[in-house]
Parts: sequence; structure tokens; C-alpha cells
Amino acid sequence: MRIRISTLAALFLIPFLAHSQSKFTVGTASAAPGEKSSGTLEVPAGVDAATSIPVVVVNGAKPGKVLALVAGAHGTEYVSIIAIEKLIAALDPAQVTGTVILVPLINIQSFEQKVPHVNPIDNKSMNRFYPGKADGTQTERASYLITKEIVDRCDYLIDYHGGDLDESLRPYAYWGPTGREEQDRISKQMVLAFGLDHIIIWRERPSDPAATRYLDNTASVRGKPSIVVEAGHAGTVDPDDVALLVNGTLSTMRALQLLPGDPHPIENPVWIEKLVDVLADGPGIWYPLVKRGTYVSAGMKLGTITDYVGKVIAEPRAPVSAIVLHVNAVPSLRKGDNIADLGVPANKAP
Ligand SMILES: [Zn+2]
Repeated sequence: MRIRISTLAALFLIPFLAHSQSKFTVGTASAAPGEKSSGTLEVPAGVDAATSIPVVVVNGAKPGKVLALVAGAHGTEYVSIIAIEKLIAALDPAQVTGTVILVPLINIQSFEQKVPHVNPIDNKSMNRFYPGKADGTQTERASYLITKEIVDRCDYLIDYHGGDLDESLRPYAYWGPTGREEQDRISKQMVLAFGLDHIIIWRERPSDPAATRYLDNTASVRGKPSIVVEAGHAGTVDPDDVALLVNGTLSTMRALQLLPGDPHPIENPVWIEKLVDVLADGPGIWYPLVKRGTYVSAGMKLGTITDYVGKVIAEPRAPVSAIVLHVNAVPSLRKGDNIADLGVPANKAP
């Protein structure tokens, strides 16, 4: 009898173990197969305050790869944040093969206080300090936790950005080839499946795993195919921009076989091989002459800068012939501010 009882116990124990092993947990979000769960990544207090980063795990009914979708490093790039909110609602675990980790808003302080570009707690960009430091300031501690809990545990990653409060931006994606053929093939498939029609080839990036700076590069250096996508501008939440990011994500998930159905890849994107930033020499009032998405020839005037009593103090010109990826959206200019970001089309597609 004793043998029979323990055999019976083992029979019950095996499926129980299999079930508990396939639970997927990120921070306090824990989802069994076929479930969606929300929670937080708790960044402990250190030299400055603690913070909680919201996270959702969609654990598909069928096992497979892990995709991380991360937005809101810049908390006022609203379209990217709203797109992830839409995906949190839209993704049905019954349809998903594998697991999706969604982080809609890393930089809550930026969002709440309406501060562009940085985390107002430590004045650092939350996409420049990866892989982070356990004993650093809040941005570094958050980056450290995201590297450990999300980057290290995903197979693919998409980082979402857009034009910030002061940036009038046309949509585009970044593709960062690594020289590792298979990884680059998959990341290129991802960026084409996403469908944005302008793609920046981002070749010169840090390769030291201890100093990767950017989130997507942190994943990329660790062997995980990853891309960056950007849409939205200057505080607006245009449904067309949100749709670009939502539909692009679903198409990429189909390409990666996390969702059933066919992707809708872009067939003829404009590949961009070089970025040229035009920076302000000093403070002043900005009067633009170009719009996002327009084409400029080398030498073309981009706009006028006056002092505070109307005297023209500068007329910045395009140093290259290029596409205006984004242009300063507001009259305020400080020394060193980005007046425009110009993209030079590649001589040939990669
Ligand atoms: Zn950003």
C-alpha cells in the first residue's frame, strides 16, 4: 500500500511541478500559461528615493520565446506609452505563443511632473545609463533592475520612443547590426515587419556589456535581436501615430511567430546611414522654416534664432542634404539644445 500511495502522490506532483515551472514572473507580476498578470518592478531606495515601475506579463497558452516591449524611458513621449497601454489590453494570452513582457512607463516621475528627456529625481536620461548600477542613483538602479529582470530573460526586445514635448518628429525605427549574422537577420526581419518607412542603420554603438548605454543595445550586446521605434511628437497623442506602434508590434509578433497570421513588412523603406544633429550655440527664440519629414539640401536655412527683443542672432543651416527627422517644436532654446536631427539616406539598402 505504501508504494501505491507514493506512486499516486508522484503522479499528482509531476503535473503540479510542470505547471509551477511554466509560471513566468517579473517583479510582482506572475502569470501561469494562458494568463495575463500586472504588477511592479520595485526599485529600492538608495542614495535617493525608491520607485515602482509598472509591468505586465502575458504568458501565452503555448510555450515559446519571450518578447519584451518597453516604453516610457522618456515619460513625456506619450504616443509610445499609450501604444503599450493599448497592447496590454489587446493581447490575449490564449492567442499568444511564448511570453510578452510589457513595460508601459519606466520614467513615472517624468510623466507625472511633465519633465521631458530626463528623470527629474537625478536629472539623468533613462536611456543612457545601461546596464545600470545597483548602488547608483534612481535611474541607474532602475536600469540595473530592468537589465536583470527583463533584458536577461527575454529573447527579443523592442524599445519605444517618440518626439518629446519639444520635438516635432516623423516616425522612424533604428536597426543596430552587430556583425553576428543570425542575430542581425532576425533584428532586420523585426524592423521590416514593424513597418515604419524610415529606418536608421545604427552601426557605431558601445560593445562593452558593462557600458551599453542604451536599452536596445544592452539586449543586442547580450545576443538578443532588438530594435527601437519612434512615433509621436510634441505632447500630442494622434491616433494614427499610436496605430503605427500598435500595428507594428502585432506585425512583428507575427513575424516572430508569437501570434498567428502573416506580418505586413515594409517593402521599400528609406534606409538612413548617418544622423547629423544641429545644436543651438546659445539661448534664444526659435522660428523654424522646416517641418518634420521635409527634405533639406546642404546649406538650406532651417530657421531663425532671435534674442528676446527680436534681433536675429543666428540662422542655422543644414550641414548636409537630408531628411528632417525631428525639429525643435517650441520657441525656447538653450545653448546645446537640439535644433534639428537630420537623417542622410544610405547609398544602398543593407
Ligand atoms: Zn525617448
